[in-house]
Amino acid sequence: MRAVFLYWSLIEREPERVLDDLAEFTGIDTLLIYVWINTPQGDRLLLPSADDFDLPVPVVSRAEFDSFSATLEMARAKGFKVGCHFSPLFTYGQNLASLRNQALIQAAFHEYPHGNMVWACPNNPDTVQLAVGIIRSAVAAWPQAELLEINHVEYPLWPKNGLGSLFTCFCPHCQDAAQAVGIDLPSLKLAAASLLEEIASVPPPDGPAVSSPANRVLNAMLRRPQIAQWLAFRMTSMSQFVRTVTAAAREAAAQFNPTLEIGLDFFLPSAANLLGTDYADLYHLFDWVSPKFPDYLTGSIVPMIADELNPGGDPARTSALREDMRQILDAGEGPSSYEPAQSSAEELLYHNTFDAAIIDRQMSYLSTLEGKVRNYPWVWLYNRDLAGLREKFEALERNGFEGYCLWLWEPDMTTAALKETQGIF
Ligand SMILES: [Zn+2]
Repeated sequence: MRAVFLYWSLIEREPERVLDDLAEFTGIDTLLIYVWINTPQGDRLLLPSADDFDLPVPVVSRAEFDSFSATLEMARAKGFKVGCHFSPLFTYGQNLASLRNQALIQAAFHEYPHGNMVWACPNNPDTVQLAVGIIRSAVAAWPQAELLEINHVEYPLWPKNGLGSLFTCFCPHCQDAAQAVGIDLPSLKLAAASLLEEIASVPPPDGPAVSSPANRVLNAMLRRPQIAQWLAFRMTSMSQFVRTVTAAAREAAAQFNPTLEIGLDFFLPSAANLLGTDYADLYHLFDWVSPKFPDYLTGSIVPMIADELNPGGDPARTSALREDMRQILDAGEGPSSYEPAQSSAEELLYHNTFDAAIIDRQMSYLSTLEGKVRNYPWVWLYNRDLAGLREKFEALERNGFEGYCLWLWEPDMTTAALKETQGIF
C-alpha cells in the first residue's frame, strides 16, 4: 500500500485532475478519505442517511453523496484503492460536545484546539454508539472502499489549551468504568494534579548533578503509584473501545463488504502507550498497522510544552526542556537551533526538528510486530522539504517497510507540486 490522504476540497473541486496527476507523477496506489467533511454549512458525514443514529449527526444530501460515490467509482476505474479514514473518537459541533473527554484543565467550547472538533471519551456510551453507527453506515454506504483505517484511538495530545488539558479523562463515565473494576478515580485525579504541579515547577537542570529526565519521571511515579494505575486504566479503556469498534466494523464488513481490510493507526511508537494505545495487544485485530512518524510531535508539541514550563522564556531552560522531552520520547538529539516553519496552515512551529534517524531509533519499539502484521507507517511532508521527505523514505526502505501512508498538504497536490516530487514516493 502506498497511500495518500486526499482532501475533500480536491475531491469536490477537481477529482479527475488530482487522480490523474497522482497516477502520472507518483507511485501512490491508495486514497484515504476522511468520513467527516468540513463545509460552509458545517461539518457533515459523507453518509447518505442518519437513520442509524440516535444522536443528532449531520450528513450530506443524497445528491452530494451520489456525486461522491461517482468519484469513488472513478478512482477505482483509474486503478486506485479507496480507504475510509475514520477517527472514532472525533466528532464535530457544539451539539455533540457532551461526548468530550474531561481533563484536569478544561477549555471552553470556543477555545477548542481544532475549531469545533470534539475529542470524545472512549468510556462514554454515546461515543461508542456514534462510532459504531458511523462504522456500520460507512461500511454499508462505501462499497467501493477496500480499506477502513481506524485513526486517533488515543487520548488528546495537542497542548493548545495547556499541559493540563492532556491530563484526561476524569468524566463521570470514566468514574463509573473505574469503579466497576475497583479503581478509585478521584484519588488518581488528585495524584495526576499533584504530578502536573510538580512538572510545572521543575527547577532548570543547570549542572551535571541533576538526574536524567527519565530518572526524574521514574521518581515522580514512584512517589505517586496512582499515576501508573491511571495510565494503565486509560490504556485498558482505550483497548476496550478499540475492540468494540473493530468488532462492529468486522460485523458490518461480513454483511456488506466481505473483503474489506481494517487497519490501525497509532502514534510515535515510543509514545503510543502513554497516549493510551496498546498496539502490541491490539495489532492482531487488524489486517495492517500504521505507526506514525509525526514531525508535529518534536516540531510543535514538545516546543509548546517547553514554553509552558518556562514562562520566563529563559533560552537555556527552553533548550534543556526540549532536550529532556526528546530523550524521554527516544527522539534523539534535537537541532542546535530551532528554525520557524513557513506555513501556519501546516500547524508546525519549527520545521527542522524531525530527522529520518528518529525512524531508525523507533524501530526497536516495533520489533514485537515484526513478521506478524503488515506495517505501512505514516510520514509527513512539511515546509515543502522534499529533501527531508526523501530521507524519510530512504529510512522506511532500509527498515524494511513494504509501503507507507503519506500526509501532503493541499498546496503539495497541485500539478506542478506533484510533478516536482517525481521519484520520491
Ligand atoms: Zn471519560
